[in-house]
Amino acid sequence: MLKELKNFLIEFFTSSELNRLHENYGGGRIFSDPLVGVASGDDYIYQKYKEVIGPEHFTPLEFWQVEGKNTVPASKLRIISIVFPFSDEIREGSKNSIQLKRLKLPAEIYSVGRNYANEFKQETCRQVIKFLEDKGYNGVAGLLSKNFTIILKGTFYSNWSERHSAFAAGLGTFSLHEGLITEVGCNVRIGSVITDAPLKITPRKSDDPYANCLFYSKGTCKKCIEKCPASAISEEGHDKNKCNSYRIKLGRKVNLRIGSILKPHYRFINGERREQDPPVGCAFCQFGVPCMDKNPMASLKE
Ligand code: SF4
Ligand code: SF4
Repeated sequence: MLKELKNFLIEFFTSSELNRLHENYGGGRIFSDPLVGVASGDDYIYQKYKEVIGPEHFTPLEFWQVEGKNTVPASKLRIISIVFPFSDEIREGSKNSIQLKRLKLPAEIYSVGRNYANEFKQETCRQVIKFLEDKGYNGVAGLLSKNFTIILKGTFYSNWSERHSAFAAGLGTFSLHEGLITEVGCNVRIGSVITDAPLKITPRKSDDPYANCLFYSKGTCKKCIEKCPASAISEEGHDKNKCNSYRIKLGRKVNLRIGSILKPHYRFINGERREQDPPVGCAFCQFGVPCMDKNPMASLKE
C-alpha cells in the first residue's frame, strides 16, 4: 500500500492547483515530487521527544486518542511523514533577495511559495486521509487539528513536531540551522498523518540526529552561519528567539509589498486560535548552502 500511496501523492502534487504559484510569478509548481516515510507508533523515540522537545509533545497514540479515535495498541499505528521539497524554480529565484535599507527580504517568489504552502500541505493531508478511508482505515493530521498547538513557555515549541516525525521515519536528520536535511536537501516543508493502516515502516539509517550536517559530522561548512542576516546561528546552534524576531520584522515589510495576494493564516497558541500575519519565510540559511538541495554527507561518501 505504501507504493500506491507514494504514486497517489506524486499524481496529486502534479495535478493540484493548490501546488501552483500565483500567476504574477508564472504559476509554476511550488513543490517538486514528495518524499514519503513511515514510522511505527510504538517507536521509542517518541518518548524521548517528551524530553528533548517538551512534556506536552504527543506520542502518536496520545494524538490518536485526543482526536477521538478508538484505542488501538501503539504498535498498530503508523506515522506517514511527507517531505515537500521546494521546486528548483523557487530555489533558483531565491538568489534574488531584496535589500530594504538594513533589512534583507526573501525573493518574492519564495515568500509566495512559502505562504501558499500551508494550504497545499493541509489539502495533502486531507487527501491522504481520504485515500486511507477509501481502503477502510482511519487517519488524523496535526495540520488539520485544533489540538495541534504552539506552546509558549519563555521559548516556544509545538506539541506535534513534523520534523521530528520525519526523523523518526528515516527521512533526514537535524542540522546546525535546525532544518531537517533530507536526501533532497533542507529547503522543504513537512507534514504528517497518523493512521491505523498497516503500512511498511521505513527504518532510520542511524539514530544520530545530526548525521547529515557537515558541521556536526565533520566540523566543516558553517555556511548557514554566514548566510543568516540576523546572526541567529552560531557554532552553539540556532537561536529560535532571534530567528523569530527577524522573521516577524521582515514579515511585516513583505506583507506591505505583496499582502494582497497572500493567503490568510491562523495558528493555535497555548490552545487558542489566533489570526496571524501570513507567513512569508526567511530561510536565507537554507539557500546557496551545501545542504539546500541534497544530503551533503551522502555526496561525500560517494
Ligand atoms: S549549511 Fe552546512 S553547517 Fe549549515 S546546516 Fe547545512 S550542512 Fe550543516
Ligand atoms: S530563518 Fe532567517 S533568521 Fe532564521 S536562522 Fe534562517 S536565515 Fe537566520
